[in-house]
Amino acid sequence: MSGKREVGGMKYLIGIDVGGTSVKNGLFTDGGELLDKWEIPTRTENNGENILPDIARTIDEKLAEKGISKSDVIGCGLGVPGPVNEEGVVQRAVNLGWGYFPLAEKASELFGIKAYGGNDANVAALGEAWKGAASGFANVVMVTLGTGIGGGIIVNGKILTGCRGAGGEIGHMHVKDGETIPCGCGNHGCIEQYASATGIARLARERLEENDDASSLRGVENVSAKDVFDAIKQGDKLAIEVGQRFGDYLGKALANIACVVNPDAIVVGGGVSKAGDVIFDFVKEPFEKNVFHACRQVEFLLAKLDNDAGIYGCAKLALDKAS
Ligand code: ZN
Repeated sequence: MSGKREVGGMKYLIGIDVGGTSVKNGLFTDGGELLDKWEIPTRTENNGENILPDIARTIDEKLAEKGISKSDVIGCGLGVPGPVNEEGVVQRAVNLGWGYFPLAEKASELFGIKAYGGNDANVAALGEAWKGAASGFANVVMVTLGTGIGGGIIVNGKILTGCRGAGGEIGHMHVKDGETIPCGCGNHGCIEQYASATGIARLARERLEENDDASSLRGVENVSAKDVFDAIKQGDKLAIEVGQRFGDYLGKALANIACVVNPDAIVVGGGVSKAGDVIFDFVKEPFEKNVFHACRQVEFLLAKLDNDAGIYGCAKLALDKAS
């Protein structure tokens, strides 16, 4: 790394987080300092044919504005919502309109910069392991508790991609038999159905219907995960029971993952993590009770980079792949 600096001065990385509604772009130094970030809309019409040309244009404009030559950009990482294999080939990204798509190859041609691809949840985990909550840890499991559950696993500093890019899909780990409602993936009984924001709201509805126990949640229309954690902080007994059910599902699932990965740290992000450390009050006990003893030493951490985790991870992906 220092050699590169001696030859050509400052070197740069670009991280691009391609979401279904907007593309988040980040310009970084090769040391991981975020110099600038900006967004453009994602134009998904016509099978997403405009997405990469739009990104190519915004990169050209930004580099011109900053007076940076493309030869000083080490690489550009792209994170997309869908499985992406080690070669940067997307298998399918429904939210972008893409089917099978050789992302890294096409982006490299269009950008005139070497480009690499990864799954959005996986690169977010890499970002948190590089410059976020788990900075300095080589083995990290990240779960993002949003509408669904995203997952990413970092082993020895590298994304666990798997053979088709679907490694780390923690949200679809089977945790309950006999579920009658299907998960978004078509299976039944995935952890996403119980521990995502949507899942927690469902656990609350089910608990409220069980009997007439008093709870501040009874007066709330369309109870959300946030309502549940707000009530927990007020000491609401029924809400605490919902939290325990959530923690039981997630804690046991994380214990199973820990037996396979033996992580230094488990990072929890996404909207649900905004509730704060209180979520760990429910997750740690079932985790510790069920985890294999040699895998018990784990740091539970709240994600730090928020919506920037993706662009950081994409920049790190480019740094790793280019060197
Ligand atoms: Zn599923």
